Amino acid sequence: MAGDHGAVNLGQGFPSWPVPQFVLDAAAASIRDSEAGFNQYSRPGGHPLLLDAIARFTASRFRRPISEENVTVAAGAQGAISNVFATFCAEGDEVVFIEPAFEMYSRMAAMHGCHVRGVPLGNVTGASVASTSEQLTLDIPALEAAITPRTRLLILNTPHNPTGKVFSRAEYEAVASVVRRHPRLLVLSDDVYEFMVLEASLEHVHFALLPGMWERTISTFSAGKTFSCTGWRVGYCIGPPELIAPLTSTQSIVSFCAAAPLEVAIARSIDAAEALGYFDSLAASLRHKRDELVAALGAAGLKPIVPGGGYFVLCDTSGLKAAGGPSPPSALADDNAFAQRRDYLACAALTKSVGVLGLPIGGFYSPANRHLSDSLLRFAFCKADGELHEAAERLREAKARGAL
Ligand code: PMP
Repeated sequence: MAGDHGAVNLGQGFPSWPVPQFVLDAAAASIRDSEAGFNQYSRPGGHPLLLDAIARFTASRFRRPISEENVTVAAGAQGAISNVFATFCAEGDEVVFIEPAFEMYSRMAAMHGCHVRGVPLGNVTGASVASTSEQLTLDIPALEAAITPRTRLLILNTPHNPTGKVFSRAEYEAVASVVRRHPRLLVLSDDVYEFMVLEASLEHVHFALLPGMWERTISTFSAGKTFSCTGWRVGYCIGPPELIAPLTSTQSIVSFCAAAPLEVAIARSIDAAEALGYFDSLAASLRHKRDELVAALGAAGLKPIVPGGGYFVLCDTSGLKAAGGPSPPSALADDNAFAQRRDYLACAALTKSVGVLGLPIGGFYSPANRHLSDSLLRFAFCKADGELHEAAERLREAKARGAL
């Protein structure tokens, strides 16, 4: 749609700035050094150089011993999460997550015959809509009620896609107290945006480090997100050996290993990043991009929920008349009827009349809660400054001519 209408594409969450030079150099070197053997299969759990780098890097942040048996590498965080489903979830199991949620969770659940129970965040829409992602509320009694003896997996995600919410320690402690009452439950802590916390007042909390949670939590990370090379498909899981070894076994069947020279490049990038001040400069740059897009959307009347972290800003489009009235209930219930829903129509209207493409997030809610997505669109700010300036200019111009 962006191509058809010449729109600035703020839909998919991939960085459009160049991959950092030190990361590119590491990849070129590992591919060119043919005698080192990096262009052949690595190992299902990950190339030893990468396992070593990840173990050291994680131990310093987790402040606990992490060895290679606590790490397993996969084809992106998505491959890692898919391996979690394939390894631990059987047909008929239930999976619980907080909605809206990265839509692959529900698609993977469907692929494995699992039932999804979504717990919606409060104040995402309606009269009490939040102005910052930290004001979105987590309903702990609703979470407790969603968990049954059949629940196998609870998926958490901070910073959160699509709201940018950085869950607080108090919120995660409340979640952990629910988890403790359900011995069969495993937790997948999706931490792919860990290095994109954008406010000094917010901290990234690793759910796995709360009391009693290490033994039952698999934490997922994305080298593609961290080093702005999402196409390389390198992600990994951290956890206790009892959970990590079966994931490695699954990986050996699925793709055997990740892309070996890129694994080595990520190992070298992890080792180089800290000394270069890379993580601070990534967050500073994203903060600046977020501020520009939030200001432009707000001035255009699209009511952004200011995100505390991540790549995205969620906006309220209820004032957008071109998108029409609420979605028909039949379209909310049917995964394939997305083009009849209001969020999709709002996205299409903005793309055509303003030239800026966002993402309808109906797919981020299960059918029971999907009506909550009606007025919401997600915009990615992980984009080159030139694209963000252009999007801001188009929003300003559309507002001035009364198109918004
Ligand atoms: N988890 C979340 C919350 C995401 O937003 C994404 C990517 N959009 C992923 C996992 C997958 O990351 P990767 O590109 O490493 O597969």
